[in-house]
Amino acid sequence: MRIPLPNLPVRPATRFAPSPTGYLHLGHVSNAVWTWGIARAAAGTVLLRIEDHDRGRCRPEYERAIREDLEWLGLRPDRESRQSDDAAVYREALERLGRTTNRVYGCRCSRADIARLSDLADGEELRYPGTCRDLGIPPQRGGIRVVLGEATVSFDDIRLGPQQQTPARQCGDLLLRDATGNWTYQLAVTVDDARQGITLVIRGEDLLASTGRQILLGKMLGREHPAAFLHHPLIVNEEGAKLSKRDRATGIRELRASGRSPESVLGEAAWRTGLLPDLRPLAVSELAGLFR
Ligand code: GLU
Repeated sequence: MRIPLPNLPVRPATRFAPSPTGYLHLGHVSNAVWTWGIARAAAGTVLLRIEDHDRGRCRPEYERAIREDLEWLGLRPDRESRQSDDAAVYREALERLGRTTNRVYGCRCSRADIARLSDLADGEELRYPGTCRDLGIPPQRGGIRVVLGEATVSFDDIRLGPQQQTPARQCGDLLLRDATGNWTYQLAVTVDDARQGITLVIRGEDLLASTGRQILLGKMLGREHPAAFLHHPLIVNEEGAKLSKRDRATGIRELRASGRSPESVLGEAAWRTGLLPDLRPLAVSELAGLFR
């Protein structure tokens, strides 16, 4: 089985970007299989980016474990970075955004405040209603947001085809720094994908809704040509929910301790996301051959 990939960038710069808030599980391995497979098939590169922007939830032992598990799987990145080493970069981007757009403001609302104000249907995302937008809170401490405007973003997902999103309607004014002073995922990932020259973002379908806002924010920060995006299927657990760090049975450490080989784990991750017709062991050297 070979997955067709229309409009793939030439020699794409991709990234594998786990957050060290827990151990890797089979879902991460499937993302790695897609990422390394496509990068190697298209003579591209893989950046290992440790996304430890949430300082309260990340642990050095999880970062160590990520590196060990990748090594065990035989997946070697071509370059590496860690978000907590780059605080100055995010601060500079935020200041520049404030200067060039005049749409950045301080926000005192907590998640609970926003939830109280929103009337959410099942599965609907929390949308910030703009409570603090005109209060003139200087963006010095605490939460910081940017007004996205009503722009609709169109992009062609390499696997899913044409997409259209209006970020302001999905999430409202985008949170860039949270109340405790952490850079948010959306800010850090947008700044990094631009400055690290990422030309192809490969990630699970659960992050599809983030793509429009990242393209829009990237543009506001001066990125003319956004990366290409490919969102791949997710592995789900027995209840049909996305795997989480709590699904112990699919943790890489557990699989390894139970005597599974790296090839059998790679094969399962590929099979469960539609890259193999049958469950079988898969060697790292075979990953590129899954794509054309
Ligand atoms: N750090 C994110 C995660 O672990 C992935 C970010 C991305 O691929 O954009 O879910």
